[in-house]
Amino acid sequence: MLWTPLEGQKVRCELCGHRCVISAGEYGICCVRANVAGTLKSLNYGAVVAMHVDPIEKKPLFHFLPGSLSLSVAAVGCNFQCEFCQNWQISQSPKHLRSIEGQATSPLQIVSAATKYDCASISYTYTEPTVFFELAYDTARLAHQQGIDNCFVSNGYMTPAAVDLIAPYLDAINVDLKAFSDETYRRLMKARLAPVLTCMKELVKAGVWVEVTTLIVPGMNDSDHELQQIAEFIANDLGPDVPWHVSRFHGEYKMTDTPATPLETLDKACQLGAEAGLRYVYCGNVTGCADERTYCPSCEEVLIDRVGYAVRNVVIADGHCPDCNEPIKGIWKT
Ligand code: SF4
Repeated sequence: MLWTPLEGQKVRCELCGHRCVISAGEYGICCVRANVAGTLKSLNYGAVVAMHVDPIEKKPLFHFLPGSLSLSVAAVGCNFQCEFCQNWQISQSPKHLRSIEGQATSPLQIVSAATKYDCASISYTYTEPTVFFELAYDTARLAHQQGIDNCFVSNGYMTPAAVDLIAPYLDAINVDLKAFSDETYRRLMKARLAPVLTCMKELVKAGVWVEVTTLIVPGMNDSDHELQQIAEFIANDLGPDVPWHVSRFHGEYKMTDTPATPLETLDKACQLGAEAGLRYVYCGNVTGCADERTYCPSCEEVLIDRVGYAVRNVVIADGHCPDCNEPIKGIWKT
């Protein structure tokens, strides 16, 4: 899907912001799409490398069917090469191994598993769903026919054309906004910032429920100025009701020497988010933190009480605070 034939058997992939031009016999940057004699092929279609039942809070999605289960699926590959990737064993394996791992699984089998395990949604996650777009698209269409919702956990590098195509079947997405510096995106992720910002705005415009996560990595994106820029972009360009999850980093992949995010930095990010006008800022990867709860932005009543991924209580009634009737944005249907 989403490619254009060019002269001399070349093709241009239009799925993500890299817009790779690929010669016959070559691969795109993600290494899971290849030009086979002038036709762009998805190599990881139906090759499912992970399938688990997770609480939706683990994505994290906090304003989307709280307390529900989500069948989480992944195929190998990614269009980014983040040096701090937490799932590098499956996201980078096509580059490292030059092979596609995974068990043959059809969209129907994925949807049947979601039904069997009583999942309200299917999450396309762990790796980057953009690079297993066709599998996600076919599965998401089938899921909607069965009354099951769909969520992406994504780096937000889809082109506007890809957003348009998936939006009718995509109910929610958590996008990683990893930095607010093009230089950081280039150096540590081998990508660019601008396509991410465009994609996020397109998702909101298309009516997909959007939440944003920023993994705060010491020395990479933890200055007050950069955190403030991220918070202001979300508040001003996406909307003050878009939840922002600031998440604690623990050494991973090529950055095992980088220390964990100090708790004071997370507190500071929460404060900067509130100052930017964001109504819902959450602290992630720190169990027992008060900022895991959803508070009414008007009267400060606790609306959703969470500990880690467990939801202990939800008191939102018809999308409103039961105490002061303030509208609380999200997808609350059961
Ligand atoms: S999905 Fe992105 S990285 Fe992969 S081939 Fe297409 S444009 Fe390139």
